[in-house]
Amino acid sequence: MNVLFMGPPGSGKGTQSKLLRDRFDMEHLSTGDILREAIAQKTEVGMRAKGYMDKGEYVPDAVVIDLIRARLSSLAGKGFILDGFPRTVPQAQALDQVLSELNLQLNGVFFFDVKKDVLVNRLSSRRTCRNCNRIVSADMVSNGKLEDCTVTSKPCNFYQRNDDLPEVITKRIQVYQEQTTPVIDYYKSNPNFLTVDAAMPADQVFQIIIGKLK
Ligand code: ADP
Repeated sequence: MNVLFMGPPGSGKGTQSKLLRDRFDMEHLSTGDILREAIAQKTEVGMRAKGYMDKGEYVPDAVVIDLIRARLSSLAGKGFILDGFPRTVPQAQALDQVLSELNLQLNGVFFFDVKKDVLVNRLSSRRTCRNCNRIVSADMVSNGKLEDCTVTSKPCNFYQRNDDLPEVITKRIQVYQEQTTPVIDYYKSNPNFLTVDAAMPADQVFQIIIGKLK
């Protein structure tokens, strides 16, 4: 089973990807996570991507297309979740090309629909674990007892991403509206396309996704 999640920053693609990955043992391909990992490891791709990401701009198409092509080519039959790719029409066209070369299909294309004010609230209180990439809200970190990190087995090491700072959030939403809205139209004719009301609680969104995939 292969799935594509599309939607604005803060719409919950990462959260739903992790739920789906854990339920069906799929490969979670998040271009954002892959790029942040490259930055942490100070690779050439990471160094190139960092300037764009910190400003809330998209990394050049050629960079992310190469990353995704490499990952999709080495799946060895495992189902995948694409999270944050494609974000531009040239990326969507490149994905079609790669999928047809590898003889793969998308079984579900989900558009996470959420209003802008909800996004800004979610992103500004978002905290991410440096090790397992778990996403929680700032008040969960201060109030709750959270499960240990799946990578270190110790409490998660939460931080606020550079691009979740208020001045960058507005820019990211603007870039999304300009460059990614046409990608939604690109997929609307796909028979497996579904718009999900992603302002609902995460567990309800997940039930809708599972229902569609069954
Ligand atoms: P969000 O969905 O909350 O914006 P991501 O972690 O998916 O967060 O992406 C963070 C940043 O990584 C983006 O703002 C962009 O700079 C870069 N990025 C991720 N995916 C892509 C992509 N497909 N094309 C270009 N840039 C990307």
